[in-house]
Amino acid sequence: MRKALITGITGQDGSYLTELLLEKGYEVHGIVRRSSTLDRPRLKGLYQNQDVYGKRLFLHYADLTDVTTIRRIITKVEPDEFYHLAGQSHVGLSFEIPESTCEVTAMATLRIMEILRDLPRVPKFLHASSREIFGTPSISPQDEQTPVNPNSPYGVAKTFATQMTRIYREAHGHFFCNAICYNHESPRRGENFVTRKVTLGAARISRGKQKTISLGDLDAARDWGYAKDFVQAMWLMLQQSRPDDYVIATGESHTIRELLETAFAHVGLRWEDHVIVEDRFRRPADPCQLLGNPSKARAELNWQPTLTFRELIELMVDEDLESEG
Ligand code: NAP
Ligand code: GDP
Repeated sequence: MRKALITGITGQDGSYLTELLLEKGYEVHGIVRRSSTLDRPRLKGLYQNQDVYGKRLFLHYADLTDVTTIRRIITKVEPDEFYHLAGQSHVGLSFEIPESTCEVTAMATLRIMEILRDLPRVPKFLHASSREIFGTPSISPQDEQTPVNPNSPYGVAKTFATQMTRIYREAHGHFFCNAICYNHESPRRGENFVTRKVTLGAARISRGKQKTISLGDLDAARDWGYAKDFVQAMWLMLQQSRPDDYVIATGESHTIRELLETAFAHVGLRWEDHVIVEDRFRRPADPCQLLGNPSKARAELNWQPTLTFRELIELMVDEDLESEG
């Protein structure tokens, strides 16, 4: 039985990846932080499944900043594949908390790679990189060759970790890869990301539980894909005969206005009647022209998105409608 160790297992991607790996017959280990509640909503189904939890799924307490504990867990588990997904994942917030963002996203990644390098059998390693490494690129769409030029603290931290991953691959010869991910969403997306804020808002407004949503820049555009598809790409990357970096994206860009149009139309409402624009949700710097070119992933991994933008947003609205009663 192959063993995988996942950091960020309680997150959006970590929970989908866990389901995927369990389906594929892996023994899955995840690193979780101590929190004041034991509620891990994204893992709930697995956590409560007695055939899975404690048998093929194991959770270990650590924090990314707690290197000694991380080393102990890695040494004990001896994973075949290591998926490093944990981090402070909110770009906007990284302007407010740049130090801790860099500590957990940049330095902790380096520390993990140093631990892995010392092992007698170095596992395959997947780093969840981000299109934020490109900042505001002059080239569109972006691919694996696009120069890095980050313009947010999150982007700087991800760039450091991405380049370090390349160094461990190229200088030390390890099977270390970067999944350079464009935005990916799902019903499990955090509620302070714009897609989820809009789908949850539309669902709550249509149920009469809320009247308005406050947003920032409505003209911003993103290349939004489905998180379940993205974790499939991450797994595929570690099944190749040689390690490499891949841009994972849909190759399509949509504005916040299109997002609003799609979500509100699905509940039969006009978004213009419910959206308030507030400066506090604008970013000090926000990249434009964010569009990924997934040609390499398509050609070499045989990977492609399974949902269109509309299908994704409607899926999210439907799940939010269901959870809102
Ligand atoms: P997410 O839902 O925010 O999950 C982040 C995970 O990291 C959570 O499990 C969180 O644990 C964990 N974590 C954060 N700080 C930690 C710390 N100090 N010690 C241990 N664990 C810590 O993020 P996601 O959407 O799944 O994204 C996964 C990865 O892909 C992230 O690195 C993100 O930056 C990157 N990425 C995501 C996107 C996207 O659009 N989703 C795009 C590009 C790159 P708690 O549950 O305890 O908070
Ligand atoms: P990001 O691309 O990883 O930063 O994902 P987000 O979902 O946080 O933001 C996507 C885009 O939506 C950015 O251009 C934001 O400026 C824009 N946006 C507009 N209003 C909001 C808002 O209220 N919250 C968030 N999170 N983003 C917003």
